[in-house]
Amino acid sequence: MKNVEEEMGLLENNDNVKELVENLNYREKVERSLALIEEAYERYGDGLVVANSLGKDSVCVWALAKMVNPGIKGFIVTTRYKPAETVRFMKESVTQYPELKVFRNDGEISDRLYEYDPDRCCQELKVLPTRWAIKEMDVSCWVTGLRCTEGRTRTDYKEVEERDVGLMKLNPILIWNEREIWQFLALNGIKVNQLYAEGFRSLGCAPCTKISTGDNERAGRWVGTSKCGGECGIHTRPLTGDLVEAK
Ligand code: SF4
Repeated sequence: MKNVEEEMGLLENNDNVKELVENLNYREKVERSLALIEEAYERYGDGLVVANSLGKDSVCVWALAKMVNPGIKGFIVTTRYKPAETVRFMKESVTQYPELKVFRNDGEISDRLYEYDPDRCCQELKVLPTRWAIKEMDVSCWVTGLRCTEGRTRTDYKEVEERDVGLMKLNPILIWNEREIWQFLALNGIKVNQLYAEGFRSLGCAPCTKISTGDNERAGRWVGTSKCGGECGIHTRPLTGDLVEAK
C-alpha cells in the first residue's frame, strides 16, 4: 500500500528543506530532482520550460531535464552587459540545443543605470525579458536552478511554488549544495562557462559581478550597492499580469 505522500506525489511534498539538504546524499538528491522534473513534465507537458541562465546550476538543471525528456524546451535571458565568455558559452549552448530560445531587451536605457539604480536596470534587462519568455512560450511551469544554500536571499524557497497565480515554479535542485553541483557536472562530463576557471562562483553581467570567496556564493554580485549578494528580481518580482506595479 502506498503512503499518503506517494499517493500525492513529490510535487505536493511538504518536506523540511533544511533537513533534506543535510540528510540526503548526492545520489538521493539526483534521484529526487529527476523525479520532480518527471512528475512535473507529466503534469504540465510542453508548458514545462527550463529557465537557463547559463550558470553552473542552470546547466545542471538543463542536463537533468534532458535526462527526463530530450524534448523539454528552455529559454535564456541575456543582456547587453554579459561578459564575452558568457556570450560565447550561450552561442555554443544554443547551437547544441536549438530548443533554447534567447530573449533580450535591446530597448534604450540610461547609461550606467546599473551604477545608480541596479534594481531598475535588472527590471528592464532581466525581469522584463523573462516575462516575455513566459508569455511567448506559453509557460505554465518554469524550472529554475535556484538553490537554498547559495546565499542569504535564497533560504526561503520551496521545491514547488506558485508565486505568480497560475504559473508554477519548480526548483528541482533547491536542496543541492555547491559541491554536489560540481560533482554532477564532473561525473557527467558537462561543460561550463570558462569564467568558473578564473574563480567566479556566481555569474551575472560584467559590471555587477566580482570574484568572491567565503560561504556566500553570491557575495560577488552587485558589490558596493544595496543589492550586494542579492537578486536580479526574476525570483522576487511578478512575472505575469499587470506590469505597472513592477515598474
Ligand atoms: S546585473 Fe547589473 S548590468 Fe545586469 S541587468 Fe542587473 S544591474 Fe543591469
